Amino acid sequence: MGEMMRQAFSEAPTKPRQDDPCNGCGICCILQPCLVATQYLKATDKCPALEWSAKDKRFYCGMVVRPLHYFVTIQAPHLIGKTPPPDFEPQIRAWILDILGGVGGRCDSEDF
Ligand code: SF4
Ligand code: SF4
Repeated sequence: MGEMMRQAFSEAPTKPRQDDPCNGCGICCILQPCLVATQYLKATDKCPALEWSAKDKRFYCGMVVRPLHYFVTIQAPHLIGKTPPPDFEPQIRAWILDILGGVGGRCDSEDF
């Protein structure tokens, strides 16, 4: 884990109990990347789309924040620099949210 990520985790909120509201602690995306990460982002450990917000002091899912960026750079680098149709990113985001089960949900990561 890089120094920046180590610093981020020292400032991130503590993981809530399973089924409590997700607070963006980021633990699940490090320990057990989701289906989107393993299938579409080639994640084997920490998800490459995990984004730290210094302003909010929490992590966000980059595949929701800017899915086009990750999709293109990791899945389809031949599209870098090309302008996609305007509805392309919203469609990827909708597809991701469907797989993830939405945002602002409950923590589905087991307690440890
Ligand atoms: S689902 Fe749970 S472990 Fe994952 S980021 Fe949200 S609070 Fe943290
Ligand atoms: S795709 Fe999003 S929810 Fe899934 S592991 Fe990566 S950052 Fe976490």
